[in-house]
Amino acid sequence: MLERKELSAVELTESVLARVEAVEPSIGAYVTVTADIARVQAAAADRLRAKGLGGPLTGIPICQKDVLATRGVRTTCGSRMLEDFVPPYDATVVRKLQEAGAVMIGKGNMDEFAMGSSTENSAFHPTRNPWDPARVPGGSSGGSAAAVAAGEALGATGSDTGGSIRQPAALCGIVGLKPTYGRVSRFGLVAFASSLDQIGPFGRSVHDCALLLQAMAGYDANDSTSVDAPVDDYAGALSGDVRGLRLGIPEEYFTADLDPAVRACIEEAIADLERAGATIVRGISLPSTPHALAVYYIIAPSEASANLARYDGVKFGYSYHDGGGMWEDMERTRQHGFGDEVKRRIMLGTYALSAGYYDAYYLKAQKVRTLIRQEFDRAFERCDLIVAPTTPTVAFRLGEKSDDPLQMYLSDIYTIPVNIAGLPGMSIPCGFAQGLPVGMQLIGRPFEETTLLRAGDAYQRLTVWHQRRPELAAMEAGS
Ligand code: GLN
Repeated sequence: MLERKELSAVELTESVLARVEAVEPSIGAYVTVTADIARVQAAAADRLRAKGLGGPLTGIPICQKDVLATRGVRTTCGSRMLEDFVPPYDATVVRKLQEAGAVMIGKGNMDEFAMGSSTENSAFHPTRNPWDPARVPGGSSGGSAAAVAAGEALGATGSDTGGSIRQPAALCGIVGLKPTYGRVSRFGLVAFASSLDQIGPFGRSVHDCALLLQAMAGYDANDSTSVDAPVDDYAGALSGDVRGLRLGIPEEYFTADLDPAVRACIEEAIADLERAGATIVRGISLPSTPHALAVYYIIAPSEASANLARYDGVKFGYSYHDGGGMWEDMERTRQHGFGDEVKRRIMLGTYALSAGYYDAYYLKAQKVRTLIRQEFDRAFERCDLIVAPTTPTVAFRLGEKSDDPLQMYLSDIYTIPVNIAGLPGMSIPCGFAQGLPVGMQLIGRPFEETTLLRAGDAYQRLTVWHQRRPELAAMEAGS
């Protein structure tokens, strides 16, 4: 509509801001709404488009996860520690999306420091699932996913350390893509576990995600882990053709924990892809999969304990001042600034790295990590993509897993191995169980995002799941 001049970017932004106003009281997707910035950016987008300039994202309203630094706009990371932190610079991804003409509606709510699977660990408020406000949207990028599902943004950014893009995408019925480790610059991403963290897009369609990734991906001198490899033409690769593509089905991802109704949706989606001409390769073997969760909960907290050492109340963020001296001030800063889950991770990580335990835990986890990666390499000799569920169940109720960290951790069993191996993974809506969305996960070889996107787009051309809207959003839209 923007291209056909049936709608201006300002009108589009105003309609999204009106939706935000209408549904935020029941969803809570945003920590901060940046309406003034959005209006300025939308007007600039219209001026560009009037001159025949700009690209596909010019004037498109998006939500930025509050883990990404935004110059002049507070970046909380869902934590009291950064409640009033206003970065003096933009994350590379924020800058790139801005340069592509995207309009920032606000900063998406998240689990504190991206630690969680439900967005209940936000220090500010939980986010609710637009399909059923009694349920969680997933996490940690729950605000971003809920915003897109509820029509409070047309696309969003997220970060994924163990599933934080794919899991909320699945539970909210949208598409979420975690690119290959190194594909997107993390400069300006508040670090959680640096060997696992990656930034990626959310959209209603695979095509939308392709456009967003195009703008986000690429080498960045400010992030030495970003890879200097050419960025493919993602949208251009969406041919709709999956003929001859070999899809591997790993037994280890269809375990007893998998809800039978979720399994049925995945099986049907696999059959749809087979009818479209893909070749199904059963019996792909990833035997170390059952160890992935344990490996992750050694490596991620270890790295987090180091990354979070910087929050000492001295350089930036929350600072306690009335203690008996420097050490007490630092202790109190961390005692008050961090929530329970973050403290749990810091303690786990500090323990795993401590003298005498390092070899037994951290080093051993690194060895199993290598095995997991090697098994994926071998699996990809027999197939081009791996198909699996994204989550074992549909969205659970608020409070259902809050008192049981292990149950919460288990909602990421199918997404975590992908981060451990550094591979690209994407969740796509593939049906409904108990009236709630189900996500199918596609996993690819390193830097083969194009294959993921092509298969996902082909699937969306055959199915209508991604076109369904939650009733909440539909009701508000009609009003
Ligand atoms: N839920 C996982 C965790 O709590 C993954 C989070 C993430 O990907 N950021 O660590």
